[in-house]
Amino acid sequence: MQEVWRGRLPRLGVVNSIELYCRKLFLTLYLHTPRTMADRLSKEERSELMSHIRSVNTKPEVALRRALWRRGFRYRVNVKNLPGSPDIVLPKHRTVVFVHGCFWHAHKGCKIYHLPQTNTEFWLAKVTRNQERDQEVWRQLEAKGWSVVIVWECELVKAKFDGTVDRVAAEILANSEMHRRHSEERREERAKRRKEQKAARERRQELMQEISSL
Ligand SMILES: [Zn+2]
Repeated sequence: MQEVWRGRLPRLGVVNSIELYCRKLFLTLYLHTPRTMADRLSKEERSELMSHIRSVNTKPEVALRRALWRRGFRYRVNVKNLPGSPDIVLPKHRTVVFVHGCFWHAHKGCKIYHLPQTNTEFWLAKVTRNQERDQEVWRQLEAKGWSVVIVWECELVKAKFDGTVDRVAAEILANSEMHRRHSEERREERAKRRKEQKAARERRQELMQEISSL
C-alpha cells in the first residue's frame, strides 16, 4: 500500500505544480490585461471622462516652464484660485500662461487638430464648448488685471520650441511693461487728484478767513 502511494506522489506533485502554474499564469494574465471601459461607458461618456482628466505636468508644458526658468522668469504652477487654474502664473509680470492641447481647444488652421470623421457633430459641439469656456476664462482673468498668453501644443515641438519660448518671453515682458506703465499712470493720477483736492481745501480756508475778517 505504502509503496503504491509513494509511487504516485511524484506524479501528483507534477500535476499539482502544473495546476498551480496554470492558476498563477491565469491570474497574472487576468491582473495585467488592461480592461477597457468600452463595455461600461458609451462613446460620449468616455470622451467626457477623458476631457476631465487634466493634463497636469504634461511634458511640453514642463519643458516650457523650465525654459522660462532658465531665462530668469519665476512663476507658480496650476494656481487653483485663479479662473481656469492657469498652467503657469507669473505674479511679478501680472501674466498667466496656458498651454493648450490643439485638439481639445480647437487650434484653428493647425495640422494636429482635425475634427474626427465619425461623430463629427458631437466633437464639434464639444470643442465649441471648450472654446467658449476658454474665452470666458480670459475675460475673467483680464477683468482681474491679468494678461493671458496662450501657447499651443504644436508650437512646442522641437523644431519650434526655441522660437516659441522667445515669443512667450517677449509677451511676458511686454505685459509686464504695460502693467508697470498703467500702475504708474494710476499713481500719477492719484497724486494729481490729491494735489487738486489740497489746493481746493486751501482756497476754501482762505475764503473763509477773508469772510470772517470782514
Ligand atoms: Zn496646433
